Amino acid sequence: MRPNSQALKHGSSHDTEREFGGALGALCIPVSLPLTVLFLIGVSRSPEASVFQWPPPLPSTDQLWDPLALVLLLGWIALHALLYVMPLGKVSEGLVLRDGTRLKYPINGFHGLCVSCVLLLLLLVLGAPLGSLFELLVPLAACAIAASFLFSVYLYTRSFWVPSHALALGGNTGNPLYDFFIGRELNPRIGNFDLKYFCELRPGLIGWMVINLGMLMKEVELRGSPSLAMMLVNSFQLLYVADALWNEEAVLTTMDIVHDGFGFMLVFGDLAWVPFTYGLQASFLVVHPQALSPLGAATIIALNGIGYYIFRKSNSQKNQFRRDPTHSSVARLETIATATGKRLLVSGWWGIVRHPNYLGDLLMALAWSLPCGFSHLLPYFYVVYFTVLLIHREARDERQCRAKYGLAWDSYCRRVPYRIFPYVY
Ligand code: NDP
Repeated sequence: MRPNSQALKHGSSHDTEREFGGALGALCIPVSLPLTVLFLIGVSRSPEASVFQWPPPLPSTDQLWDPLALVLLLGWIALHALLYVMPLGKVSEGLVLRDGTRLKYPINGFHGLCVSCVLLLLLLVLGAPLGSLFELLVPLAACAIAASFLFSVYLYTRSFWVPSHALALGGNTGNPLYDFFIGRELNPRIGNFDLKYFCELRPGLIGWMVINLGMLMKEVELRGSPSLAMMLVNSFQLLYVADALWNEEAVLTTMDIVHDGFGFMLVFGDLAWVPFTYGLQASFLVVHPQALSPLGAATIIALNGIGYYIFRKSNSQKNQFRRDPTHSSVARLETIATATGKRLLVSGWWGIVRHPNYLGDLLMALAWSLPCGFSHLLPYFYVVYFTVLLIHREARDERQCRAKYGLAWDSYCRRVPYRIFPYVY
């Protein structure tokens, strides 16, 4: 196929608005975020666990490399690629693409999680030293970062050989740095194997659970049994991942799949950032054990439960409404019409704030940090980072919705003035 750069020169996509600080952001983020991952892992296991310590506890170059880490990482990705192509679960269609076609996706991520759990149980029974993941965390993260860079180079290069309708509208500014970062091709595939969809919820998300289990086993090695705080962190995060995979079909309508190209931003996020920073509480607890009272634990469980309830109910309500607005669970909700023919919910969860699902997600994020006590900032990294991410994401979504729905969106905003936190923001 002919490289598409010529076709794009005449397209409007060069004029698209740049996000994440444009070219400067695209230069700084791929340097700073990988260093942040290594820094945070270093902080979580240092005795002070202070994010402000100087010099920053970055690993030395010889600590970055362990051939076992590379074997484990490649083996893990290969296992999930194999599970992806197995004829398990149903096949769903994505939204209609610009060329009028719809792609097919296997909905079998939850099967992947179940098979992973069985394999891990088998390894535990056989006495495999899963606690060693604690020592391997830095080289594993280094391999995941290197793999993210190499994979992004591959994605960027191959995107010049796909037809222009297969490119993401926002990823073709003509600035190579920015396009590499934000992603040129919308749905890169090898045959039927969808690279973006595969990375979105499988190796990284399930890998995060394996790392958490490794931290729990390290605690068992060190102290004879897992702490209550560690069990809460492991259970809450397992619930979150299991929920995402159980509702895997919903990912087909998210911004990541529908709108964003597949470039360094998503690759690194899926393969390195999520598995190595979202579970920092677990590696923190290995070195900094925390006592938790039954009342404290009950309060945190209740907070996680409330967060999960809001998150799940609001996401399901919108998904149901988008799939079938006449369904009995959503048919009575008040809506407003838009010029596109689609309607917007203005009552139910989506009448309380404009992103109730983000509110629930943030309550859960707080519940993941609280088992680590109040003596250190590090375990709160996730909830702080996630608040920033969701506020930024909400603003991106808002821009897209305003462009899509125009006046109808403005009247929705007047009806539902708060974005995420009722009466606050
Ligand atoms: P959302 O599920 O919030 O979807 C936003 C879209 O919903 C809009 O673009 C619009 O699309 C539709 N919509 C907005 N308002 C209404 C309304 N009133 N009525 C009907 N439809 C409406 O998108 P996200 O992908 O950001 O979030 C999905 C979930 O993933 C959230 O729970 C979020 O917290 C979570 N998440 C987690 C991350 C993590 O790292 N843990 C990262 C990002 C998200 P349209 O009208 O075209 O249907």
